[in-house]
Amino acid sequence: AEGEEIVARQPAVDLVVGPQAYHQLPELIARTRRARGERLAADFAPDEKFDALAPAGRKPAGVTAFLTVQEGCDKFCTFCVVPYTRGAEYSRPAADVIAEARRLVGGGAREITLLGQNVNAYHGAAPPNQPKGGEWGLGELIRALAGLPGLERIRYTTSHPRDVDDALIAAHRDVPQLMPFLHLPVQSGSDQVLAAMNRRHTADQYKRTVQRLRNARPDLALSSDFIVGYPGESDQDFRATLDLVAEIDFAQAFSFKYSVRPGTPAADAEDQVPEPVKTARLAELQDLLQRQQRAFNQDCVGTVLPVLFEKPGRHPGQLVGRSPYLQAVHTDASPDRIGEIIPVMIHA
Ligand code: SF4
Repeated sequence: AEGEEIVARQPAVDLVVGPQAYHQLPELIARTRRARGERLAADFAPDEKFDALAPAGRKPAGVTAFLTVQEGCDKFCTFCVVPYTRGAEYSRPAADVIAEARRLVGGGAREITLLGQNVNAYHGAAPPNQPKGGEWGLGELIRALAGLPGLERIRYTTSHPRDVDDALIAAHRDVPQLMPFLHLPVQSGSDQVLAAMNRRHTADQYKRTVQRLRNARPDLALSSDFIVGYPGESDQDFRATLDLVAEIDFAQAFSFKYSVRPGTPAADAEDQVPEPVKTARLAELQDLLQRQQRAFNQDCVGTVLPVLFEKPGRHPGQLVGRSPYLQAVHTDASPDRIGEIIPVMIHA
């Protein structure tokens, strides 16, 4: 991919473009090359891709398993190398996903996490027995998987706010196996920064999507990703991120200082934020996010949560499992309870 990035950054033609258009060049060049049928370094054939990722008969690692349903990304966020290194977006046919899920459940998996770089852009071929044929989105796929006997829990990651569609929201409302915990990256609360990142959504659109999800599944807890100190981020932009965090109230989050990814459009931006400013902003954001996470966990104390036990804990006689909100729960129990979902009173 390194070579591809250099091609994208140094086009061999003279183009007179403004700074905004210049930032779109890697995306335009990658899209043009794919449209011509040329392969980027990471554009290998879908069959090769998923044969490598999901060989038939592979044993699940345990009671929880990962199942790749989608690879690559066509979003071209300006800070991200995925569209260049992992290739164009491709979705596995639904029948293949269901067959692999069946194998995983047959091998002992009780929880499956559907994986994809942009998982809710999933648009796989519908199974051949479907009267209407066509494609399924992630919502339809989740409904079908929920019909597999023995599959108790379904999760998916990583999703993009723009690809949360009506069918997916309806799946959150109707499918009890779909866990009420969603990682939905927002990156920033500033529309100016989101536009510069080419995120294709505004802060308000993100908030409205979250509201629709919470209307569908009131106990939904949210996790997100944040980048602070993106080139050009002003103090006002950063305050908008804090405001968004305060309004949404996250149960968990991952936050980072912007760091240059060579070959991405943002790497060439002239208005890089000084390191001490990034450090101070990250500390302030993480303080708020950690307080929200602690409050969420504290609210669970004294409640009874269904815990899927996965493996022995650190201490003899102990098991460790996960709550619906992906919190690790340790308790004393016999090893033969591994693979079971047991109601557990949560203590601090
Ligand atoms: Fe795609 Fe996510 Fe990377 Fe954006 S951040 S280009 S949506 S993989």
